[in-house]
Amino acid sequence: MIQLFRNAGYKIVDFTDKSDIYIINTCTVTNMSDRKSRHILRQAKKNNENALVVAVGCYAQVAKKELEEIPEIDLVLGTNEKIHILEYIENYTENLKKENKIDDVMQNKNYGDFGSVTYTEKTRAVIKVQDGCDRFCSYCIIPYARGRVRSRKPESIIKEIEEISEKGIKEVVITGIHVASYGKDFKEKFELIDLLEKINNIKKIKRIRLGSIEPLLITDEFIKRLIKLEKICHHFHLSLQSGCSQTLERMNRRYSAEQFEEIVNKLRKAYDDLILTTDIIVGFPGETNEEFEITYNFLNKIKFYKMHIFKYSKRRGTKASLMKDQVSSKIKEERSKKLLELSDKNENEYLNTYINKSVEVLFEEKDEEGYYKGHTSNYLVVKVKSDENLCNKIQKVTVKKSEKLSLIAEIIK
Ligand code: SF4
Repeated sequence: MIQLFRNAGYKIVDFTDKSDIYIINTCTVTNMSDRKSRHILRQAKKNNENALVVAVGCYAQVAKKELEEIPEIDLVLGTNEKIHILEYIENYTENLKKENKIDDVMQNKNYGDFGSVTYTEKTRAVIKVQDGCDRFCSYCIIPYARGRVRSRKPESIIKEIEEISEKGIKEVVITGIHVASYGKDFKEKFELIDLLEKINNIKKIKRIRLGSIEPLLITDEFIKRLIKLEKICHHFHLSLQSGCSQTLERMNRRYSAEQFEEIVNKLRKAYDDLILTTDIIVGFPGETNEEFEITYNFLNKIKFYKMHIFKYSKRRGTKASLMKDQVSSKIKEERSKKLLELSDKNENEYLNTYINKSVEVLFEEKDEEGYYKGHTSNYLVVKVKSDENLCNKIQKVTVKKSEKLSLIAEIIK
């Protein structure tokens, strides 16, 4: 959206600056995000009482009525309307205010393609390839806010990546709401792996990173084709959510802990420098001490490099919010702390195994301390001092030590 406005000659300012138009891209993933979205919408009008305040995005999509009652908001637009935001703003009238505009996102069958955009980041670009999700996990509101799976046409994706690679971008991160479902809505069979193969052929792209993926995507056939793609980064973010099969069932995650472990073992066999990260929810309704222990022991066995820990929070409109045996905040806090400690321990141990090893780094920027900072293919942060400008270069370095969750290295001469 920023890019649409920039291209049309608008100046983008900080939220705290006085602006003529405020566009709040709202989030609704938890009840807390709803609250934050409402707060920031009201705040916008306080910044400039004459400004046009527009609510777009997921919260606007699922809670039109609620937002219409907030007098500080001039216009509410749903997820489908984002792509036409410029037209709505430029043709804004008081009448439109009364109407607002929320399509039934569940009926939408086409991917809302913003087309190619210009990137401010010089090294890495995030490429969205699909929208929507058909999985309906019991705690999640996203399918209702984003609708069914809609995939972006491969030609549009390839064109965009080719263009940005000409501008110097070396790494692309493939994202979406549920990337594993890419292509599910196409008439002719064309899946994520087909897309990755095409991207791998783009000469100036050196790395392809996969955003969060669902474990069930990783089949034997997928791995067989994936390992042939030399540009795929050896870092996978596999959302696990719980290490206990019973909890997973209540979450409607459609895989068991045992199946997940099998997938991890296959991936580890395929890539010896593989790094795995994950998301875990603690305190899901009905998670007993025994279930949490099972999760803890499972995570201790799998040894993820890093874990993002979320304390379960009720989301109105989801099945889980109505489940019995909601877990107290105190218990969620204790479980979260325990898992965060485990995550930090794993991260440190893992980093230490890299001391004296050589790694290849794509450097992105120079930090305040004068270090050039970049990432390895498996997403470790590496810093080096150098007289030569290393930004946007791939360079081999030797790791000397680990410090504050980064690796400090020297250039191999
Ligand atoms: S797969 Fe992800 S986006 Fe889809 S319902 Fe589950 S948690 Fe939500």
